[in-house]
Formats: sequence, structure tokens, C-alpha cells
Amino acid sequence: MSAVGDDRDPRAAVLELQGIEKAYGTPQNPVPVLRGVDLCVREGDYVAIVGASGSGKSTLLNILGCLDRPTNGSYFLVGEDVATLDDLSLSRVRKTRIGFVFQSFQLVSHLTVEENVELPLLYARVPRKERRERSRALIEKVGLGHRGDHLPTMLSGGECQRAAIARALVNEPALILADEPTGNLDSKTSKEIMKLFVELHGSGRTIVMITHDPNVAAVAERRITLRDGMVASNENQRAAVAAEEAECSAN
Ligand code: ADP
Ligand code: MG
Repeated sequence: MSAVGDDRDPRAAVLELQGIEKAYGTPQNPVPVLRGVDLCVREGDYVAIVGASGSGKSTLLNILGCLDRPTNGSYFLVGEDVATLDDLSLSRVRKTRIGFVFQSFQLVSHLTVEENVELPLLYARVPRKERRERSRALIEKVGLGHRGDHLPTMLSGGECQRAAIARALVNEPALILADEPTGNLDSKTSKEIMKLFVELHGSGRTIVMITHDPNVAAVAERRITLRDGMVASNENQRAAVAAEEAECSAN
């Protein structure tokens, strides 16, 4: 396995970064933050990106989420070269390809759970009946069937995050991008939300999660550690667990 991924893996790449660099500051006086990140995430992967504060996680997340452009390098998302797209095209890519889950949920406070989940479909001009059906099915799936007509202010943190996850899924995005999704939750609720992510992964979703919490990172299939704006390690945790189990049963 290289830093980028296993070349023999037959699954299609959802995203591929090559030599991604990002510098802040001015062209005369650049402050390099990402210094050549290579990364491949394939269909059905569940990847956690970890790293100390200041290692470049948020900067990488902004690039992965098409919220910002790299200074150098290539980024292919579902085969499309997105590194150099203009703002309008980036916004199209965000809306159609990516489902975002944020630490602070970012639900619209004057809309009900159902209306929040429908929003991406409204932007995509999906007819009302289909919007309702799809949002209801997902609200049910994330365990909020009894809360569809509630406003976010009437919900617990865990329920808000479930609603946000339903909203992230409703457009059938190629990639779920989660930024510290349990950062505002107590440990019991965090575990429930992590369980939901494991279920989503089990049903074939592709997930990239940025977290500083080792417990959260531990449930992902792969863990990528950023250090000083570079990939310091790329561990396949499932393979490591399988190897450990094989060793135990051999002894
Ligand atoms: P992390 O999320 O891992 O804590 P960040 O991506 O937020 O790391 O930041 C990485 C480095 O880039 C830090 O040293 C930070 O000070 C610097 N940085 C982040 N954003 C900017 C910016 N807009 N302008 C200048 N420096 C920035
Ligand atoms: Mg950060």
C-alpha cells in the first residue's frame, strides 16, 4: 500500500489528490500549510483524517469540500478535475457530489427537521412529492421518524446531528464529508452518532471524517495522520485488526 492507496484495488476512486499544496500569505511571502498531500479515497471507504492542531486538517477539509482551491496539485472528484474550477462550478460540485456534516449541525432554525432535510432537494429542483418522500425515508432511517415536524430548537444535540446527517444523505452524494461531527456531543451521544456512521459505511456510503478524537478515528476503516501539512501515516485499521486476530487464533 502506497501513501495514495492500493493500486490493485478494483473499486472506483471517489476522490484523488496528487501533490496538493496550499499556501496562505502573499505570492511574495507565502506561508505553506499543505505541502504535497497525496490521497485516494475509493467507493465505500471510511477514512478518518487526524492530526495535531495546526497540522492542516481544516485547510484540507476546505479543499476536499470544494470550499477552497489548492495553490498547486490536482484534485479529481468522481473523475472531474475540480482543482481549478471557478466559484460557480465549485458550488455546483458541492451541491451535487458532497454531503456535509458539521460539528455545529448548521440546521436552519426556523425550518422543521423535514424542511431542513428537503433543502438540498429544493435547490436541486426536485418536485415536492418526491422531496417529501425522500426526506421522510431518511428521517426514518436516522431514527428521527417521530421528530419530522419539530424545529431544531426542540431537539437534543444528538437529534440535531441525526437531522444533519439525513440532510447530508438526501442528494445521494458520492462523498460524505464530516468535520468533527461529535465535537459538540456528550460521550454517550457521540457513540450513537458513530454507530450511525458505521451503519452508513455498512450500506456502502463513502465517508471522510476529520476528527481530533482518537475514539472517533478508531471506528473508521483507514486512519490518515497529517503532520506539518503532509500525510505522515496512512493505516488500514481493518487490515491491522484482521492481522491481530489471525495472530491471536494462531497462538
Ligand atoms: P488544523 O485544522 O489541523 O488545526 P489548519 O488547517 O486550521 O489546521 O491550519 C494549519 C496552519 O495554517 C496553521 O498554522 C494556521 O495558523 C495556518 N492558517 C490556517 N488558515 C490560515 C489563513 N487563512 N491565513 C493564514 N494562515 C492560516
Ligand atoms: Mg481545524
